[in-house]
Amino acid sequence: MQLYTKYPLKIHNSLGGKKEEFKPIKEGYVGMYVCGPTVYSNVHLGNCRTFMSFDMMFRYFKHLGYKVRYVRNITDVGHLENDSDDGEDKIAKKAKLEQIEPMEVVQRYTVDFHNIIEKFNILPPSIEPTATGHIVEQIEIIKQIIEKGFAYVTNGSVYFDVQKFNEKYEYGKLSGRRLEDMMANTRELTAQSEKRNPHDFALWKKAGDQHIMRWPSPWGDGFPGWHIECTVMSTKYLGKTFDIHGGGMDLKFPHHECEIAQAEAGYGKAPVNYWIHTNMLTLNGKKMSKSIGNNVFPHEIFSGANELLSKAYAPAVVRFFMMQAHYSSILDLSDDALQASEKGYYRLMDAMSALEKLETGPESDFDVQVWRQNCYDAMSDDFNTPILIAHLFDAVKHINQIKEGNETITVSDLIVLTNTIEAFVFDVLGIAHASQSKEDSNDLDGVLNLLIKLRNEARENKDFETSDKIRDELISLGIQLKDGKDGTTFSLK
Ligand code: AMP
Ligand code: ZN
Repeated sequence: MQLYTKYPLKIHNSLGGKKEEFKPIKEGYVGMYVCGPTVYSNVHLGNCRTFMSFDMMFRYFKHLGYKVRYVRNITDVGHLENDSDDGEDKIAKKAKLEQIEPMEVVQRYTVDFHNIIEKFNILPPSIEPTATGHIVEQIEIIKQIIEKGFAYVTNGSVYFDVQKFNEKYEYGKLSGRRLEDMMANTRELTAQSEKRNPHDFALWKKAGDQHIMRWPSPWGDGFPGWHIECTVMSTKYLGKTFDIHGGGMDLKFPHHECEIAQAEAGYGKAPVNYWIHTNMLTLNGKKMSKSIGNNVFPHEIFSGANELLSKAYAPAVVRFFMMQAHYSSILDLSDDALQASEKGYYRLMDAMSALEKLETGPESDFDVQVWRQNCYDAMSDDFNTPILIAHLFDAVKHINQIKEGNETITVSDLIVLTNTIEAFVFDVLGIAHASQSKEDSNDLDGVLNLLIKLRNEARENKDFETSDKIRDELISLGIQLKDGKDGTTFSLK
């Protein structure tokens, strides 16, 4: 029997706003699509929180025995400034600013994204499609939407006709909006607007002469709108209706609402059975965001090079910090909270390291079966990681008591305890073992301290050529030396 039969999973479905028992379309299989990053700048910790939350879900589905196809896209065209239909393309803008090709922007930030998610132990998805790799399919579905009467062409651009759609389907059902109310609260369109209704959105945009990212289409040279890529890439790989679609809360409207409308208009059926939205990471109570610059970047947290932080934190500690909150709650990043998580993380790791050496006895003072059931109950109740972690610390308390000789445990219970705690911590929560992160940073510390020593010796011998060379070469590797009154320290950029 698979674990998913034994521990039925409940998911909070944003469509309808209720917790529902998860029933996949095909027994034993899960199709999951998550909106990936727009690769025009480095990912910040807020983005990482969202991808970590879905990684935890992906891992739990697999742990339960499901075969999962997890599709997470890369947005490399069509996402305009302020999520609007009229701004500049975020990637094209960055390319102009840096005087490089848009695809160089895409490459640079896709590589950065992959490096960071690997540090956080986020598994690669099964498929990672790009918007520019699916232009043909996007043109195809736009043609179908026009044919069915739910889109119109104006001046080389194609717009989705929200009002027409709303006559047959329901626009706004995911975000709890009504088109009539939305219309009552919006100003009339200006005479030069290409749209029939202010809530219509672009499926295809005409490329002006200066626009670099352009493709030929039946409506002339242009580029796809932001929402259509996700409709195409999700249904292409997961089917016209699939199990789960996820993304951060901020994408619910308009992005996901428009995805539903496009799929229903084009294919005549609802695309998604369960919508999951993760909540925001905040900094000083405000959403962490690229556009307002309220950010902490992963490299700053790994090196401590941010004035908000008193020290550096290992990726596993940051992941543990994120997992201590439910994915649907707001989480505020602060140095105090990270310090508390670090303490908790090492307490958990120490207890897990002690498991190997625990002595067993004729009886158990701790009901391991009930505890194991509690762990599954927590995770199967809408992926409740904070409750799971509370149960893990319950086990830590018992492990420490057994270690002190105040409690006993049988051999068979110790095996169950070890397997269960390792499965939840390493496989499901994706928290790496302390020894791994500690060893990595110890190695680096050792090498850098040696280089600092050699540089100091060179300076004492007035060999400034060598000492400057060491400093400059380290800078080119992203390592900054700082000379202070207590000696030389380093930070990673
Ligand atoms: P973007 O690259 O801006 O399209 O964002 C990629 C993903 O990160 C989306 O799912 C966003 O919802 C999510 N995201 C953006 N900001 C935050 C934040 N402060 N906290 C959590 N997730 C976020
Ligand atoms: Zn999307």
